[in-house]
Amino acid sequence: MFWDEKIECLSRDEIVSKKEKLLRETVRYAYKNVAFYRDQFDARDMDPGQIRSIDDISSLPFTTKLDLRDNYPYGFCAVPLSRIVRVHASSGTTGKPTPVFFTKSDMENWTISMARNCYMVGIREKDVCQIAFRYTLFTGAFGHHLGADSIGATVIPTSSGQTERQIMMMQDFGTTVIHCTPSYAITIAERMREMGIHKGDLSLRLGIHGAEPMSEELRGEIEERLGITALRDYGMTELGGPGTSIECPEKNGYHINEDFFHPEIIDPDTCKPLPNGQTGELVFTTLQKEAMPLIRYRSRDITHLETETCGCGRTLIRHGPIIGRSDDMLIIGGVNFFPSQLECVMLGFEEIEPHYVIYLKKKGRLDHVSVAVETHPDFWANAPGEKIAELVQKIETKVKNDIGFRMQIKIVEPLTIPRSEGKAQRVVDER
Ligand code: ADP
Ligand code: ZN
Repeated sequence: MFWDEKIECLSRDEIVSKKEKLLRETVRYAYKNVAFYRDQFDARDMDPGQIRSIDDISSLPFTTKLDLRDNYPYGFCAVPLSRIVRVHASSGTTGKPTPVFFTKSDMENWTISMARNCYMVGIREKDVCQIAFRYTLFTGAFGHHLGADSIGATVIPTSSGQTERQIMMMQDFGTTVIHCTPSYAITIAERMREMGIHKGDLSLRLGIHGAEPMSEELRGEIEERLGITALRDYGMTELGGPGTSIECPEKNGYHINEDFFHPEIIDPDTCKPLPNGQTGELVFTTLQKEAMPLIRYRSRDITHLETETCGCGRTLIRHGPIIGRSDDMLIIGGVNFFPSQLECVMLGFEEIEPHYVIYLKKKGRLDHVSVAVETHPDFWANAPGEKIAELVQKIETKVKNDIGFRMQIKIVEPLTIPRSEGKAQRVVDER
């Protein structure tokens, strides 16, 4: 039932003592091999030997994405280039890409964490896994590939895009597991509908979806349209990609691979640690990285930690759903909200399809939010104008009640919102 029972089911005391040993080693190692950390410690008159217990971590400085950018390209690399066997990087849409480096041992640990995660969601040797994350500098596809491969499943590295061919391969090769972003899962389901292929024509039973938020409502849509169980996967380039955490089939939070990553939740404004259960920013310290150890790396992702035991039997701590990134949070008229909250409200209406874009504009000095969203093609084809106006009215009222301010909802013609093959672009800021 477990890939690594001796790690996944340890008692809290055992895991804490294991993590303390790894933390002491990591801090000493980072001090010795990364000038950035040596400078940070020296500036605070700190000796790595002062860090003994997990609680001592709160005295350590944070690392941010800006620190990584300032030290581009090799500043955070703790080993000579001859020991680096792989480089990946995030998109870098706002500047240089953020790279991450792997030694042979980092690759082995990445494989272990992904094998554990793929096994946790239920992948076995007999499965046929279609990896429809993009095979590029991004980590996603490669991480899932390593995990499924290590279990001995059949791996089909289709990458994302060429959706019709993707669907044909699912049919022809009897794909049982699809690995892709949640928005691409919806794109696939929609194309199946257009091609007249029914979910019963496929052997799919499981979807693993990451790289962007998937609300419960969107999960429901994906499960229904593809006839699968859809589970969430989390990670980020800086930490080495997927492998940080994943939901088990209990669907009550993502188990964190705590022997590789120590999590904390902080208040993003004061940077003070928050107790388990409270919502704030997720911060990770890597515990076994050779090429790029990171101390208290600020993920900017908002969630909480859960400590009650999970029905699956694993004791690894869990984090809740990622509500969004702190830098994706929109503040409109003094109210904070994340696009994923709007998704929950809109998908509560059965006429609405999961294709929407939020437009932010300035009207005078005030922010104005409008949302373009599609309905089900049958509804669009058969509903008279007043039915559409009535639906708009209902959605606007629900949004105002649930989120706290008015947004203008515009129902647009089916298939006019661009479809996603990777991370969906949900917000257009024209302010
Ligand atoms: P980029 O910074 O270019 O988007 P990454 O591909 O490294 O690069 O993206 C990592 C980010 O993707 C995470 O920090 C998080 O915001 C988002 N993400 C990844 N998995 C999930 C998930 N399961 N739910 C919500 N957001 C996720
Ligand atoms: Zn579990």
